[in-house]
Amino acid sequence: MSTHAAVGACVGLALTVNQPAEYALIGGTFAMIGGIISDIDVGETGKKTTPIIIGGLSLGPFAILFIVGVGVFPGIIELWRLSSGLLRTIAGGTIFCATCLWGMRKPHRSFLHSFLGMAILGGAVYLVLPVAAGYFLAGMVSHVILDLLNYRPVQLFYPLEKGVSLRLCYSKSRVSNVILLGSVVGIVALLFVR
Ligand SMILES: [Zn+2]
Repeated sequence: MSTHAAVGACVGLALTVNQPAEYALIGGTFAMIGGIISDIDVGETGKKTTPIIIGGLSLGPFAILFIVGVGVFPGIIELWRLSSGLLRTIAGGTIFCATCLWGMRKPHRSFLHSFLGMAILGGAVYLVLPVAAGYFLAGMVSHVILDLLNYRPVQLFYPLEKGVSLRLCYSKSRVSNVILLGSVVGIVALLFVR
């Protein structure tokens, strides 16, 4: 999970490297959430605490982004006010939570790892903050690409049952740690070059 979070944040920061700090914060936060949210569907295949940790790791940074927006970068709140607003946020937030709760009852690596799941969650984020949707989806895509590398099939085309797998490595392999290390170095470098 830390690999997914780090890769997501790294992707978000990379996509916003030439943009103002507000966008980097939005990009990093939403791409990180997009990077981890899919695995809220682990169910029986993972630890019981995993969905709680993923929920916290998604809501926490979102709350921090809001507080930072109020306190340090009012541009974030202004952007939200101009492009979204309370009604859209409630609608998007409700769709997002309902989709996750529904996805948690589906098998691991099915709905929440599919194009359909990405489209619905991406749409929900678009309602909350349009500019964030692309970064969020980039995070989700990075998650699915990482999952495709190993042996457990991903149901990309859910509700079709056929799973896809590139069979390049095992889940808990050294590869995962190398990618984690690479993205942490990437995050530090991207923050440094800003
Ligand atoms: Zn996954």
